[in-house]
Amino acid sequence: MRFTKFGLTTLRDTPSEAEIVSHQLMLRAGLIRRLASGLFTWMPMGLRILRKVETIIREEMNKAGALELLMPAVQPAELWQESGRWDKYGHLLLRMKDRHEREYCFGPTHEEVITDIARRELRSYKQLPVNFYQIQTKFRDEIRPRFGVMRAREFSMKDAYSFHVDQASLEEGYQVMHEAYTAIFNRLGLEFRVVDADSGEIGGSRSQEFHVLADSGEDAIAWSDDDDFASNVETAATLRPNGKPAAPTLQMERISTPNTRTIEDLTTLLKVNSSQTLKTLIVEGDDQPVALILRGDHELNAIKAARLEGVAAPLTMADPAAIRMATGCEPGFVGPIGLDIPIYFDHATSAMSDFVCGANEIDTHLTGVNFGRDIDTPQTVDIRNVIEGDPSPGGKGTLSIARGIEVGHIFQLGTAYSAAMNATVQDQDGKDVVMAMGCYGIGVTRIIGAAIEQNHDERGIIWPEPLAPFDVVLIPINMHRSDTLREAAEVLYTELQERGLEVLFDDRDARPGVKFADAELIGIPHRLVISDRGLEAGELEYRHRRDDDSRVMKRDDALNLLFGSTLKLQSADS
Ligand code: ATP
Ligand code: MG
Repeated sequence: MRFTKFGLTTLRDTPSEAEIVSHQLMLRAGLIRRLASGLFTWMPMGLRILRKVETIIREEMNKAGALELLMPAVQPAELWQESGRWDKYGHLLLRMKDRHEREYCFGPTHEEVITDIARRELRSYKQLPVNFYQIQTKFRDEIRPRFGVMRAREFSMKDAYSFHVDQASLEEGYQVMHEAYTAIFNRLGLEFRVVDADSGEIGGSRSQEFHVLADSGEDAIAWSDDDDFASNVETAATLRPNGKPAAPTLQMERISTPNTRTIEDLTTLLKVNSSQTLKTLIVEGDDQPVALILRGDHELNAIKAARLEGVAAPLTMADPAAIRMATGCEPGFVGPIGLDIPIYFDHATSAMSDFVCGANEIDTHLTGVNFGRDIDTPQTVDIRNVIEGDPSPGGKGTLSIARGIEVGHIFQLGTAYSAAMNATVQDQDGKDVVMAMGCYGIGVTRIIGAAIEQNHDERGIIWPEPLAPFDVVLIPINMHRSDTLREAAEVLYTELQERGLEVLFDDRDARPGVKFADAELIGIPHRLVISDRGLEAGELEYRHRRDDDSRVMKRDDALNLLFGSTLKLQSADS
């Protein structure tokens, strides 16, 4: 591709609308352009990358025996009413009406449509197992679209759905997808981890997420250094501490703490560690507010808490008026002693002694509080997020925590949809059985943002080679002043393409500095510079995007190096 024919505009300055580096670089390198909130155009440069991601996904899905199809993006409301999700899915669902006032949605996912296909097409166990997939545009009306294509409203997903005669076959099919996903993310050249996950609105039993590791990731993931435990922090269990708390050394005292409403204010005033304090959170309940009590330095886990009996789901913090009404006390001074609403204590509180908590009276706290003496020793539950260094719930080792970007999610749905929509086949004995189902998503467009989060420097993107829009950028120096150079550059451009490389030929009449800066911004893995001086000596200058310096090499040596490394890459892929 000739730069002058590619219609590419790069931006020098960081666009102010972009919060994170991948979004900034995607705009600056001309990969995408924003149309409206959460809606993006894939420009020619960006689309090249998107197509590469799709190709790798397709090849691995096909290899795993999945069948590609393409379902409509627009789906009739009746199917969603049948599955019960028309009401449950809420505001994420973009609903619309046609000229006959019939209701539809723009598909955020396709369980209903594929289950409808399955119940019409599949009659016998002999047709199972089967796995259908598509690569298609989804729409989810996200509350906060952000980070460019990473949390967009319209985005591309690869979604696959498998159908099975029983749970055992589903588990096998799920394992096949686990392996296919592992192959896909390996081929994409990304550093990733697979973790146990919450099944969310989709429902079902087992589910795992594939996360690209990056500091900007919206999720926290935890894994053990000594067993195979790996989980999204959303669902990672915490253990009840072993043994009893230390014996009390202090008397309980009522102390004045004016305007001290937060744990931070409290620890500053009393000069204690936040792990010595109790934090009492009041949340909405089914019929009355509920108190959730944690160690002051721990964070509440909303998913775990919403599953407790009597607690409203999704978890909603009570507003100040409701707190006053339920506790008779100002927010910030609530504590468990004498509190007359349902209370849940987190496991970690059971190891505490001589702690500080609210006194249920304005501007007052209690210090030196102990279980078994000042308040009954409570039953405890798991309602906090795991933290670095916690013992592994798997039984061995301790947990490490990192940030991740969810790029894939695989589920064993079981019969959640097939039962609701009556999708059955005849088994060996001629009996009708409800099919077991799995579903498997990959955020095709999100992968590109995630890849950049993981692979960039202060000058721009550093593409993993399988994703790069071009293999090599060819930069002639001052070609517009030298016919000899122009000819040599054209010959080289043709040769590189004939040997199978995707080449961006920077044929602009621009300063070398501008060309170098753009090549680095776009992140093309290999760079060849050709100049009059080099030509005389029969030399080219080669540099890999990850190298610190360029190397002046004999023309053949440079080309051998280039073909060598790109060939190696191609054979590793096949
Ligand atoms: P998230 O938790 O990030 O909202 P999700 O769990 O709701 O995602 P799934 O239903 O599991 O998403 O969808 C499959 C994949 O689609 C996700 O793993 C993710 O990579 C991608 N995806 C989901 N929502 C978006 C979005 N708003 N923009 C881009 N990609 C998305
Ligand atoms: Mg998910």
